[in-house]
Amino acid sequence: MSGTLAPAAAGAQTDAQPPALEWKLWLYTNYDCNLRCSYCVAKSSPNAPRRALGLANVRRLVDEAVDLGFDHVFFTGGEPFILHEIYDMLAYSSARVRTTVLTNATILRGARLEQLTTIANENLSVQVSLDGGRPEHHDAYRGKGSWEKAVAGIRLLQAAGFRVRLGTTETPANSAHLDEICEFHRSLGIPDEDHFVRPLARRGYSKEGLELGMDNLVPELTVNLDGVFWHPLSTDADMQVSKKLFPLAPAVERVQRQLEAIARTGRAPLMTFT
Ligand code: SF4
Repeated sequence: MSGTLAPAAAGAQTDAQPPALEWKLWLYTNYDCNLRCSYCVAKSSPNAPRRALGLANVRRLVDEAVDLGFDHVFFTGGEPFILHEIYDMLAYSSARVRTTVLTNATILRGARLEQLTTIANENLSVQVSLDGGRPEHHDAYRGKGSWEKAVAGIRLLQAAGFRVRLGTTETPANSAHLDEICEFHRSLGIPDEDHFVRPLARRGYSKEGLELGMDNLVPELTVNLDGVFWHPLSTDADMQVSKKLFPLAPAVERVQRQLEAIARTGRAPLMTFT
């Protein structure tokens, strides 16, 4: 996916103190995707309705986020590079704030890669989903042939000068082989600090994995066309914070009040899942 990732050495973590809001804003640009991963938490596929956020909304959200003090904007989907507008979105955002776009990298070549290259700047990073150092560890959940295309996309991005980060979802197909993907990303010149591993979550199409929700996740504000959500793990109704996109400030305040309420209960700390 497209989605949230954890440091390779740590996975989902438990914080010692009640956490503060992470000043990261996640934008679901669209829900359609060229792949059909069986564990997709967003229920994306070639047949998924697009539900596009749109350039005007993205511009306003970036402006409000910068004013509120957010220091990093993430673009996710679906596959964002299906959209013609994605380059304008990324250019607008990365001119104002650190920006990362998540992609499966399988369609990042030719005209798409050329357009992305024209907006390259030091604020803009690309995070690619890669679940293994060998095809079978990746393709088991993402589809036959997708590893080869993803690796080709990574190499093209690197050749174009992009800093590439990798996100790995740990699954029964690759959990015994995570050392292999680390060897592989190092062979590509991608350092350990740019590789993230997260566990499977039981959400969307995934019928296995951790049960995660507003009760146990450190919030990272997330927006789609339908409103504001607690965390990019899911834009299901149980994760919704606000049905209004604008202004963003009341949703931020709501999340902060909820964190304070959680802290007062003294119950188990929330988990990071990024
Ligand atoms: S590439 Fe990402 S968004 Fe697309 S189906 Fe797979 S997990 Fe979902």
